Amino acid sequence: MIFDILTIFPDLLESPLNESIIRRAREAGQVRIEITNIRDFAEDKHSMTDDRPFGGGEGMVMKPEPLTAALKSVRGKNEPGRVVLLSPQGRPYSQEVAEELSREKHLILVCGRYEGVDERFIAAAVDDEISIGDYILTGGELAAMVIIDSVTRLLPGVLGCADSAEKDTFSRQLLKHPQYTRPREFAGQEVPEILLSGDHERIENYRFLESVSRTMDRRPDLLQKEEFSKAEIKLLKKHQLYDKVKTLQKEH
Ligand code: SAM
Repeated sequence: MIFDILTIFPDLLESPLNESIIRRAREAGQVRIEITNIRDFAEDKHSMTDDRPFGGGEGMVMKPEPLTAALKSVRGKNEPGRVVLLSPQGRPYSQEVAEELSREKHLILVCGRYEGVDERFIAAAVDDEISIGDYILTGGELAAMVIIDSVTRLLPGVLGCADSAEKDTFSRQLLKHPQYTRPREFAGQEVPEILLSGDHERIENYRFLESVSRTMDRRPDLLQKEEFSKAEIKLLKKHQLYDKVKTLQKEH
């Protein structure tokens, strides 16, 4: 998969793209990530990429010409790519959207700055606008990083353990169960005995029930979309959780 990032602050992205899983995925050729400095495509001698808004008002707006030229430079002939503008006005980002994007061959992520981007560039060139949450960042670079990180870990072979993405929070509409590592006792708290039992079926059931309970407490809205298997329903009934889940599903 190819990611192209268009930005006026390329240095902001260097370090997170060169560490840990993303670095390994790049080295293994599972992803290609290129950063393009929009400023290199500015037409005037001061390399201006922004200008005052027509109609007056606060701040500066990113000019359409450097963005268009930068985009043209990264577009392949056969694989033109999907152009995503990071924007607080975009559709909300979620694990579902990450999965959708992971099926693309080429993503072009455009990072806005200042008050945003000239609307004519958006109308002419942008396929998708994505927001990573209901808050305002100073620029799209961190949002682009969130997308690259979450999409890359979904690509085949990127995570060391084959099934770890499948068992993450949001792979279903359930939060992940609590997790523990050594030591067995920490600050007066013991690891739950069942996790030391070696009985895989009991451990799986325990983790599933913890996942459901945690989701009921923290994110009951998620349960609405969750579908349980027959065996899971039986387990929930046995632990007096099924009626509570049904009630929460109706409420949200
Ligand atoms: N004035 C704009 C508005 O009210 O919609 C906000 C501009 S913001 C300061 C500058 C840039 O940061 C945006 O163009 C966008 O690329 C990025 N950005 C800010 N918040 C974002 C968010 N929640 N999700 C994705 N990108 C965001």
